[in-house]
Amino acid sequence: DSGEEPPLRVENLRKEFGGITAVDGASFEVADGSLTGLIGPNGAGKSTTFNCITGVQEPTGGAVYFNGSDIAGRAPNAIVNRGLVRTFQIARELAEMTVLENLMLAPQRQQGEALYRSVLPPFRDGVIEEETELREAVWESLEFFEIDHLAEEQAGNLSGGQRKLLELARALMTDPDMLLLDEPFAGVNPTLEAKLLDRINQLRAEEGLTFLLVEHDMDIIMEHCDPVIVMHQGHVLAEGRPGEIRNNERVVDAYFGE
Ligand code: ADP
Ligand code: MG
Repeated sequence: DSGEEPPLRVENLRKEFGGITAVDGASFEVADGSLTGLIGPNGAGKSTTFNCITGVQEPTGGAVYFNGSDIAGRAPNAIVNRGLVRTFQIARELAEMTVLENLMLAPQRQQGEALYRSVLPPFRDGVIEEETELREAVWESLEFFEIDHLAEEQAGNLSGGQRKLLELARALMTDPDMLLLDEPFAGVNPTLEAKLLDRINQLRAEEGLTFLLVEHDMDIIMEHCDPVIVMHQGHVLAEGRPGEIRNNERVVDAYFGE
């Protein structure tokens, strides 16, 4: 352990809805550059945890440290500006726009003078102020995700898997340091799934991005995520390497009955 602050540290997080406790003192860390898995049975509190981390919901208690500052309770756009982003399903209005328009209109991270920075070289350290530059960055992203042939297609006409690629491409237009993905492989065929995982690992290796992934497909989690964090009844039940988690009795009990 280097003693360095991890990008994300969640401390004793709580979220109550009336009498329901969705998150009940969850604490965990996500290491820099990792692809960390977050699993747990239905109702364990995974989505609520994501919502509290990204400012979509205000936690009832606890702290969320991103790069050392407590961001709990801040507005979603303030959190995006700090470089922490989650993917969102393409909403109805966006489904009627083309793939190209979806990326052109993606929210942009405001960093000082910077209006726009792409995640992809050669724009990584540049400031994009002109629409032509934005257009170039968008095309670069379309090519990176291999959806450039779909640029003029309405987003609503994409397959489930292509839509997932677009959602990830959109989130990346904000030039994040860390991405939270909630079931990004749902409805994705194996070919596109492999492609998405390739892209994620490429972004980790080349851009140093950090990923926290909620996924119900245990094969994906066990094959690609390290470490794996297990939530149950609103708190963290176990954390470890995939092999440890697979053989953890408490985890097996949490999934297959009490
Ligand atoms: P997961 O994503 O792990 O399936 P959730 O975070 O969606 O779990 O839900 C955790 C618990 O909180 C569940 O019991 C769920 O019914 C409850 N819950 C989630 N959101 C709300 C809400 N907005 N109002 C009331 N209860 C909620
Ligand atoms: Mg969920």
